[in-house]
Amino acid sequence: MLISIRLLIDGQKCTDCKTCELICSFKKASVFNPKVSRIHIATSYPPTLVYPVACIQCEEATCIQVCPVKALQKDEKTGAVILDEEKCTGCKLCVEECPYSAIRMNEPRRKPLICDLCQGSPACVEWCPTGALTVKKLGA
Ligand code: SF4
Ligand code: SF4
Repeated sequence: MLISIRLLIDGQKCTDCKTCELICSFKKASVFNPKVSRIHIATSYPPTLVYPVACIQCEEATCIQVCPVKALQKDEKTGAVILDEEKCTGCKLCVEECPYSAIRMNEPRRKPLICDLCQGSPACVEWCPTGALTVKKLGA
């Protein structure tokens, strides 16, 4: 049976420690650099509120629908949106059309940064010290 994974975010538990950004960038790009993290902490203006933002794996994913070269598709095992870097032309349409602003561009590489749920065991969830990030399994 297909078991989809969802990343659940509880903004009220987030302390803005940014551990999630650092562990994500390290796991995916072997650097501690928030600019290449697939999760980021959004801050309100004036800076009174913070909220973790990452792909929430929409059922009807706008990014998949707008990609002109079909570089995005759902992983059959986890339900995560997966990028085919070979196909991607770096047009940024997925970044611009995501209704949650959950996709950012790795500008030097001209490739979008999209959470792939770490094959079902997200590192950000493992390392978040407050429980602001958790996973839910669907269809089990
Ligand atoms: S690791 Fe958890 S508490 Fe720290 S910034 Fe990320 S979501 Fe917030
Ligand atoms: S940046 Fe890449 S993945 Fe995003 S819409 Fe353009 S071609 Fe598709």
